[in-house]
Amino acid sequence: MTDLYCVFGNPIAHSKSPAIHSAFAAATSQDLRYEARLAPLDGFAASVAEFVAGGGRGANVTVPFKEEAFRLCTRRSARAELAGAVNTLNFADGEIVGDNTDGAGLVRDIVANLGVALAGRRVLLLGAGGAARGVIEPLLGERPQSLTIANRSADKAELLAEIFQKNASTVNATVNGGNYEKLAGHRFDVVINATSASLAGASLPLPPDLFAAGSLAYDMMYGKGETPFLALARSQGAARSADGLGMLVEQAAEAFRLWRGVRPVTAGVLANLRATLAA
Ligand code: NDP
Repeated sequence: MTDLYCVFGNPIAHSKSPAIHSAFAAATSQDLRYEARLAPLDGFAASVAEFVAGGGRGANVTVPFKEEAFRLCTRRSARAELAGAVNTLNFADGEIVGDNTDGAGLVRDIVANLGVALAGRRVLLLGAGGAARGVIEPLLGERPQSLTIANRSADKAELLAEIFQKNASTVNATVNGGNYEKLAGHRFDVVINATSASLAGASLPLPPDLFAAGSLAYDMMYGKGETPFLALARSQGAARSADGLGMLVEQAAEAFRLWRGVRPVTAGVLANLRATLAA
């Protein structure tokens, strides 16, 4: 019998997850169907219950339900606990087991796909929302020299730095949080935009000279053409840039591995998606 999976979100029509997971299933000869499901803003739990009752085996969760999914779980992985959000659900034996694969996806895209090491590097994370929080632990796991979190609302960045201080010290990294002005005079090897500013076409008020020689600018957002953040990074001297399409594919591959026990090869799927986006 074909196993059923889905992604819940609102809106969801734009989601690339069905195409990604269908390609993974074909490539790994897994008998599954994956669809996009629109959950009402006040009806996420009911949508999940209906899906499980209909035989659903697992699901991805996207905006705006990741925190609600976290609360709905009967069990959660350690990385989901640290992220405070869940993007992958597994339904088995009456349980809802939650995980978060976003951080693993980001790290794999940067380290494996882009070939940029994070170990010993100065990493700047812009933003302090759900996406930023979800990637902090996996970033620290790469043993950077330092992780600086900067956000429009400084208190949120400071709070995240405080929460992850203990984890940072176990890998001999420093973690700091603050506003954008506080970045003046500092330089970074990897700068990751985890704000939703690019979604609104807005630029970030970054001080000049943030980008060290050979640095990578990474925008979690993706779309047709250069995002405002990547355009700013290029004008400020970032040597390389990448958008979040690779992260999207890699977080999906990690979810697929959790569900099916097999990790799909991502390069072809990413290349096809990139071509579709550019068309
Ligand atoms: P949240 O709403 O939780 O957080 C939004 C963040 O962006 C906050 O830090 C907020 O600052 C900041 N922000 C919003 N607008 C502006 C602005 N105009 N100027 C400066 N800062 C701003 O969103 P998420 O964390 O869930 O998502 C962030 C981004 O990451 C989105 O673009 C999303 O698409 C992307 N993403 C990509 C993934 C991928 O696979 N590629 C996976 C997950 C997310 P403040 O706190 O001050 O309001």
